[in-house]
Amino acid sequence: MLNVPSQSFPAPRSQQRVASGGRSKVPLKQGRSLMDWIRLTKSGKDLTGLKGRLIEVTEEELKKHNKKDDCWICIRGFVYNVSPYMEYHPGGEDELMRAAGSDGTDLFDQVHRWVNYESMLKECLVGRMAVKSAVPKGMLPKSQAADPLAKESPVSPSYDWFQTDSLVTIVIYTKQKDINLDAVIVDYQNDSFRAETIIKDYSYLIHIGLSHEIQEEFSVRIVENVGKIEIVLKKTENTSWTCLGHPLENHNLFIPKKDTGLYYRKCQLISKEDVTHDTKLFCLMLPPSTHLQVPIGQHVYLKLTITGTEIVKPYTPVSDSLLSEFKEPVLPNNKYIYFLIKIYPAGLFTPELDHLQIGDFVSISSPEGNFKISQFQELEDLFLLAAGTGFTPMIKILNYALTNIPTLRKVKLMFFNKTEDDIIWRSQLEKLAFKDKRFDIEFVLSAPTSEWNGKQGHISPALLSEFLKRSLDKSKVLICICGPMPFTEQGIRLLHDLNFSKDEIHSFTA
Ligand code: FAD
Ligand code: NAP
Repeated sequence: MLNVPSQSFPAPRSQQRVASGGRSKVPLKQGRSLMDWIRLTKSGKDLTGLKGRLIEVTEEELKKHNKKDDCWICIRGFVYNVSPYMEYHPGGEDELMRAAGSDGTDLFDQVHRWVNYESMLKECLVGRMAVKSAVPKGMLPKSQAADPLAKESPVSPSYDWFQTDSLVTIVIYTKQKDINLDAVIVDYQNDSFRAETIIKDYSYLIHIGLSHEIQEEFSVRIVENVGKIEIVLKKTENTSWTCLGHPLENHNLFIPKKDTGLYYRKCQLISKEDVTHDTKLFCLMLPPSTHLQVPIGQHVYLKLTITGTEIVKPYTPVSDSLLSEFKEPVLPNNKYIYFLIKIYPAGLFTPELDHLQIGDFVSISSPEGNFKISQFQELEDLFLLAAGTGFTPMIKILNYALTNIPTLRKVKLMFFNKTEDDIIWRSQLEKLAFKDKRFDIEFVLSAPTSEWNGKQGHISPALLSEFLKRSLDKSKVLICICGPMPFTEQGIRLLHDLNFSKDEIHSFTA
């Protein structure tokens, strides 16, 4: 039986009200949760009104379906009848109506490119757009669409390859200095070899069906200063290759990262440990044929199939502990990814995750996010404002800053929770503060017991103005903030009121 809570949904402070991409979610009616939608799509009901037929849709036809009770939207060339979905859309009906009767690809990408609409809306598929001689922009493959940023794009990388008896080396010339191992993500799955290099906000893809078999494991190294990446593959047989292979989709393309799809690989659950009464540390192992390191401050998407529908949610990888030696971003072949995840008993995704057995698989996407390590340059004071699991991005930031920023004088974390039992890694935080005099921690509780004699309440001008004192008059400051979206939005307003500039604030959102 599925557990359907009877309270009003989303609950007033529920993180379901958290918006992705900074939008506000709207209250959904009773019986209109994502799980309810999945149930409806499995009910066998004709959701398109076409009795299972798929049709070719002309632009003129698409335009006609622009009303709430008859609303078609095109996403990447496929047309969906979204009228049955209206009441289930977390962003509200009006948001969906912005794309009514038109190509909603750009709008969709702006707001939630990561949502797996193909799976969620498969029962709403009306058909494909009819091909026209002059194709409108949104329907072109992304690489061909006019890109307003094109002029500012970095120079396109190129690649080459060479071989010895036993090895094949693919060399990517990024034409950029300061390339790190986390800039390249390599996967070898089902004979397809894929290496994505991230350069600024662009993605360069090598995607090849290799001409010969290789062994699962390979190595990736950076030749610093010249911006060269070398991927060394081991041949299964010592024969000479006459070609590397044949190009696959989007091979040798250099396009804005926002225009690329999310790529997933299956990872195995290695361990699961209780951290608080409702939060667990999950350890997942990447396949041997994947090279992936999540850059500091970025998140990934986890994907599970729940009653036949692929569901995707964002999570922020953490270190396995706050106290272990900091190893990133230079450790090659780091195969384990850790997550601190709060289990919401009435949630859709986290109970499924919690039910996984050691050895089960979860798909993990390539990293996303806009935090840049350059924000730490010359940094003197780092302030971290975290609420609940909003602590997760702060973990690697904290570790990295204390280990790698020579100019750093002070790091302070203000950590908001309901009760003492909710504080993640409290004793590790206290040990770290004891060990490193630059680091201070302040816990603030919104629902403490009578024994609590620390700070109480919610994020407020009084708490912040006392906490955010620069170590020197003009010291270079960075404030990172993360938590439930209303908390983050409120915090940003207060920080502006306290005269901190945009450049001094980094907020974490999807
Ligand atoms: P949901 O189904 O979204 O439910 C959440 C809440 O709503 C629960 O309280 C649930 O009880 C309530 N609810 C759900 N359905 C109903 C209903 N019908 N009626 C009443 N109440 C209902 N989380 C982490 O734990 N760790 C991380 O590292 C992390 N990183 C993140 C990174 C980013 C960029 C973002 C945006 C979010 C991150 N999150 C993280 C949050 C995470 O993505 C999920 O939102 C969270 O795990 C909840 O997912 P869920 O599907 O289990 O819950
Ligand atoms: P929680 O336990 O419900 O709340 C933590 C603290 O924040 C509590 O003290 C709570 O007070 C307070 N709070 C909640 N809403 C507030 C508001 N509107 N204004 C001021 N304070 C508020 O938090 P959680 O369940 O762990 O949820 C963490 C959130 O962080 C999730 O929404 C998750 O999506 C988000 N997150 C985002 C990222 C990212 O990178 N974007 C990463 C990780 C997590 P009350 O007692 O009053 O509720």
